[in-house]
Amino acid sequence: MSSTEKKVLLAAPRGYCAGVDRAVETVEKALENYGAPVYVRKEIVHNRFVVDSLRERGAIFVEEADEVPEGAHLVFSAHGISPAVRDQAKSLNLQTLDATCPLVTKVHNEAKRFDRDGYHILLVGHEGHEEVEGTSGEAPEVTHLVDGLEGVDQLPDYLADEKLVWLSQTTLSVDETMQIVVKLKERFPHLQDPPSDDICYATQNRQVAVKAIAPESDLFLVVGSQNSSNSKRMVEVALQYGAKASYLVDFATQIEESWLDGVETIGLSSGASVPEILVRDVLEFLAERGFTAVDEVTTASEKITFALPRELRPARTVKQAL
Ligand code: SF4
Repeated sequence: MSSTEKKVLLAAPRGYCAGVDRAVETVEKALENYGAPVYVRKEIVHNRFVVDSLRERGAIFVEEADEVPEGAHLVFSAHGISPAVRDQAKSLNLQTLDATCPLVTKVHNEAKRFDRDGYHILLVGHEGHEEVEGTSGEAPEVTHLVDGLEGVDQLPDYLADEKLVWLSQTTLSVDETMQIVVKLKERFPHLQDPPSDDICYATQNRQVAVKAIAPESDLFLVVGSQNSSNSKRMVEVALQYGAKASYLVDFATQIEESWLDGVETIGLSSGASVPEILVRDVLEFLAERGFTAVDEVTTASEKITFALPRELRPARTVKQAL
C-alpha cells in the first residue's frame, strides 16, 4: 500500500445513540398507531434529515403545546421538558408521549433531589439549549447556568455553608466541562460533584473515537446539524486533538471541493442524532474523489437500548394456564 494513498478513518462508535433511536421510533410508532398528524414539540432530535423525513410522514413540529389542537397527540422531544410544559399540555387536554431520553430524565431527577435537599445547583450547559431549559425548569429558583469558563465569573458569591452541587447538560465536551469544574472549585472549594456522570455514554464515546483519529487527520468531517450540541463538540474536539481542519456538514453535498486540496487522510464521524445513510453518502462522495480506502477505528462498542414510552409498548399477552 502506498504511504500516500488517500484514505478515510471512520470513527466507531458514531451516529445514532439509544436515546435518539427511541425518540425517532416513538414518533414513527405514534404515526402508525394513531395516524397522521402527530404533533411534536420542538425538533424530536437535532437533525435536519430526520425531522424532514418525519414531517413527510405526517409529523407536525410545533414550538409550544398551545399550537396543538385540543385532544391531539403530542410527543415531547428527546431533550426533555420542564414541568411547566407538561402542565400546559395537560391543561390543554393533549394526549402526550414523552420521548425524553432516560439519561436526560436522570439529570432532571438529580436536580429535583438536590433542590429538595436545599442545594444551589450550578448547571454547566449552553444557554438557550432545550435540554438546559428543561433541567433548569425542575428547580428554577436554585439553578444557575454556567455557560463556558466565563460563566464561572458571572456567578454570585456563595457562602461556605451554602450547599452547592454541579450538574451538566448531557452533550458537552468532556474536557471543557472538566476545565469549568476546576475553575468552579477554585472559586467554591465546597462544591460537590454529581452522583454520576451527566455527560452521557454516547457523547463520551463519540468524543473518545474522534480523539483517536484526529491526530492523523488532515481533515475531519463530522456529519450533523448546526443545532446539534454533541456534533458541534466533536468538531471542536477534532481540532483540539490535532486535525488540521474540521467541518460539520448535514449532507455530502455541503462538502466543498477545496477542503480536499492536499488532503490524504480524512477522519469521519457523525453525531448522536445522525442516521448512518448520511455517513454512507459522504463515503460515496469521498470514494468518487479517490478516497476509496476506509479503515474503521473502533474505540468502544455500545449495546444500550431504551424501551419505548409505556403507551407505545406492545400489550403483554397473558398466558392462560392450561
Ligand atoms: Fe440520550 Fe445521550 Fe443520546 Fe442525548 S446524546 S439522546 S442524552 S444517549
